[in-house]
Amino acid sequence: MSSNSTVTDSIERDPSCMDDFDPNSMDASIALQLILDQMESLSTTETVPIRDALNRTLAENISSTINVPGHTNSAMDGYAIDSNDIPNEGTKKLTNIGTAWAGRPYQGSVTQGECIRIMTGAAMPEGTNTVIMQEHVQKDGDNIHIDQTNQAGQNVRQAGEDIPIGGTVLRQSKLLTPSDIGLLASVGITEVNVVKKLRVAFFSTGDELRPVGSDLELGQIYDSNRYTLHGMLTRLGVEIIDLGVIKDKQEAVQAAFIDAADKADVVITSGGVSVGDADFVKETLEKLGKVNFWKVAMKPGRPLAFGKIKNAWFFGLPGNPVSVMVTFYMFVQPALKKLSGCPYQTPLMISAICKTKLRKRPGRIEYQRGILTQSKKDPTQYEVIKTGEQGSGILRSMSDANCFIILPMESSGIDEGDKVQVLPFSTII
Ligand code: AMP
Ligand code: MG
Repeated sequence: MSSNSTVTDSIERDPSCMDDFDPNSMDASIALQLILDQMESLSTTETVPIRDALNRTLAENISSTINVPGHTNSAMDGYAIDSNDIPNEGTKKLTNIGTAWAGRPYQGSVTQGECIRIMTGAAMPEGTNTVIMQEHVQKDGDNIHIDQTNQAGQNVRQAGEDIPIGGTVLRQSKLLTPSDIGLLASVGITEVNVVKKLRVAFFSTGDELRPVGSDLELGQIYDSNRYTLHGMLTRLGVEIIDLGVIKDKQEAVQAAFIDAADKADVVITSGGVSVGDADFVKETLEKLGKVNFWKVAMKPGRPLAFGKIKNAWFFGLPGNPVSVMVTFYMFVQPALKKLSGCPYQTPLMISAICKTKLRKRPGRIEYQRGILTQSKKDPTQYEVIKTGEQGSGILRSMSDANCFIILPMESSGIDEGDKVQVLPFSTII
């Protein structure tokens, strides 16, 4: 929390959310940096069986207590031989004296002039160091002829060549993937120490919001943000605390914030952070903690509140459904990942040819929603089109999309055929 006071002091407090360019608004990358600078991994950890460790952050370095592979073995179906039997010229006949199967080794030893039929993964029999592929021998009954084209040591996997005893398997802070879980199993590890799941509480604010399943009266809308947030948080694998819809009333809002901060490491709200919203949201937050109201130079998602309520980090997202998603992906998700112990990584972006004209005013970064495809004419190129109307309340524009088209601050629009930077959803969600 050391730098929080600096942030509070340095950011102008102005909750305006008008959509026009405002020279006082904050660069989105600065907002992200200010947030990330304050996020430190939760120190609490727990031990879980490896299957339950998927998507969790490893809280320890893991080294191997065994060699992988555990024994020198064949990489091919073929014949195990002593490399001294490879002839300098012509062919040499070898007597087949047995078979080695994966998991059922040949027990005896092999001397020169002999060979063993061997299957992929079977331990190399004593006295052999080379495997001749079955396609590269001439069969002579049970016996074989081999020629000079073979190399000593070929088609053999050495014990420990994947991971040696004492070798590092995985490092602390790794977000565990299916391959990591397999790797842990391959060295015989049954459980690992991981960072505890973040507890994230969230609620929607607004007198107009009704839960799904109820009837709508004039001016009322269904609360969709809580469902979007639920989905995005579920994908992140955090512990979810859904606190419902809170009315625009001072006591209700205050009680909800206190409840949320008591229950969770992070509190997320949607709505109520822009100009025109009842001021008590701000007043309440001022009483309970240290929260900054930022105008970020971005579209959608301009107003953003960030700070602390008691011991919980707080993100006050805008109310508009697309703004909620954009600000979640751009600010909240990186913060949650860092709190969960994963270092921040800039998401992968690709360059694409924009097939639709895009209108934009300079002075703010825009995250338009697009559909990215591979060019039919040139498969090395990508093409992108926008998903219809781009209003911050039009959730369909997100649902139809598979990427954000990122238009930088200074851009004053895109003509058909221009190159644009694209952030595929598959790299962030
Ligand atoms: P606000 O930031 O509270 O002024 O909300 C901005 C717009 O987003 C308004 O049109 C709200 O009705 C709408 N909105 C706010 N919260 C939600 C929600 N949970 N679900 C759907 N729309 C919302
Ligand atoms: Mg509202």
